Amino acid sequence: MVADQLMKRGILDPRVLDVMRRIPRDRFVPGDQCERAYEDRALAIGHDQTISQPYMVALMLKVLTLAGNEKVLEIGTGSGYEAALLALLVQEVHTVEIIPELAERSKILLGSMKLTNVHEHQSDGSLGWPQESPFDVIVVAAAAPDVPPPLLEQLKTPGKLLVPIGKGPRETLTLFEKTKSGVTRTEFGGCAFVPLRGAYGVLD
Ligand code: SAH
Repeated sequence: MVADQLMKRGILDPRVLDVMRRIPRDRFVPGDQCERAYEDRALAIGHDQTISQPYMVALMLKVLTLAGNEKVLEIGTGSGYEAALLALLVQEVHTVEIIPELAERSKILLGSMKLTNVHEHQSDGSLGWPQESPFDVIVVAAAAPDVPPPLLEQLKTPGKLLVPIGKGPRETLTLFEKTKSGVTRTEFGGCAFVPLRGAYGVLD
């Protein structure tokens, strides 16, 4: 997976490649999908949701250029895969999932892997997680129609917010960087995510 799907497509950040090697993706997919865990695609995890394609997760981690001391908020825990990778890359991770069953499942799994710097919350993540704000980095794993204002508010200065923007079938991976002089916006090409739900999502 690392050599064929990531390195050949330009993911060369050694820290990103290292964590992609260390976290076993098969632990995060349902039993009947286990044999497909290392395929170059998103896979169903139940409740109409997916675990993202390995390349897309790696690309997001690469774009964020994490130094290691960050406090990160992830919106859309899903399987918990990206949260587990983030746990090895940064100081503290808060991850929010709106579907109670997925939140519960990932909490048990991440707990069993002894990733003690990840904190799982069940809530509408389009509102962020104000209890723990501000964050150095916020990463959204579902497609938003536009940037949810609470997420920009809960970002430190300087801070980075990475979110797929669009209403499907394709979205644009978009990085917002908050600096003293304002917010800049950089686009990183097309992607396909499940829709963000909740107050600032596309679905209620
Ligand atoms: N990072 C996940 C990707 C999961 S797909 C992984 O590595 O597996 C996106 C997830 O976002 C889904 O589980 C979906 O239920 C969740 N989601 C959608 N809208 C949300 C919202 N408003 N708040 C929190 N989670 C949300």
